[in-house]
Amino acid sequence: MKVGLYGNQTEKTKEVMNTFDRLCQEGCFVRDDEHPDVVITVGGDGTLLGAFHRYRDQLDSIRFVAIHTGHLGFYTDWRNFEVDQLIESLKQDKGERVSYPLLDVNVKFKSGDVVRYAALNEATLRKVNGTLLCEVYINGELFENFRGDGLCVATPTGSTGLSKSLGGAVVHPRAEVMQMTEMASINNRVYRTLSSPMIFAKDNVLTLRPESKEGMVMAIDHLTYDANEIEEIQLQISGERISFAAYRHTPFWDRVEDAFIGSREVNCRGNEEVR
Ligand code: NAP
Ligand code: MN
Repeated sequence: MKVGLYGNQTEKTKEVMNTFDRLCQEGCFVRDDEHPDVVITVGGDGTLLGAFHRYRDQLDSIRFVAIHTGHLGFYTDWRNFEVDQLIESLKQDKGERVSYPLLDVNVKFKSGDVVRYAALNEATLRKVNGTLLCEVYINGELFENFRGDGLCVATPTGSTGLSKSLGGAVVHPRAEVMQMTEMASINNRVYRTLSSPMIFAKDNVLTLRPESKEGMVMAIDHLTYDANEIEEIQLQISGERISFAAYRHTPFWDRVEDAFIGSREVNCRGNEEVR
């Protein structure tokens, strides 16, 4: 198995990376950061986002394994103290995988250039120095004229990230949908938006046509881009997906409970429960 390593800069991460490096030198795995079969990320959910964009062009041949050096994350299945167990699973790999939907983000610039991005969590368009004016089209038909801070379009696995903070629904990743949430829309007698988060089916195409001239920023996950020369952004659930090596399964709603509720650790009577 060819293994690529991708980590952040913390001491805990360095320890885990050194363990895998040693195993590669001992011949258990082949270290290949250029064309790996499996990419092991060490850090947080944000680290996995970084690795996704690093290996964006090899998604059909790569599976990710994400180790968290802090609390359990959403993409990060493994904790740093479980590395031995993970190594055993990797040695007995049978190609197990689980995959999640991605977002296709097609950006047309005023120059006529077209650039295609992929988002794992979400794409956002904002104006940082005033009100964003933006037409929103659904399947080519004008739906609303947005005025406010910005718009966010998230994948199912992105629904627990920024989208949730914007009031979006948490979406099970087997639902192949994208969700749009608003950032501080202006709603009064003159200006009107739907104001609710919207969930779009797989074949729906969303088009954002910004009318503002300056101060606009587009973000794809943790990456930000100047958006002032953008004519329109087309968003749709992608035909491509991201795959993870699924050696064990943590049900999605268990992760949500663990991350946001935590009631199973201490139940409502205050008694500790065994997990
Ligand atoms: P960051 O500032 O470290 O991320 C903010 C937090 O979001 C971190 O705790 C991160 O977890 C967590 N996170 C990332 N993806 C998530 C997901 N799919 N579900 C639940 N939590 C998630 O920046 P970053 O690490 O580069 O990550 C960028 C992402 O953070 C963005 O794509 C956006 O979804 C999210 N974000 C959220 C807010 C907000 O809720 N107000 C603001 C900015 C960014 P780790 O600590 O494990 O990295
Ligand atoms: Mn982070």
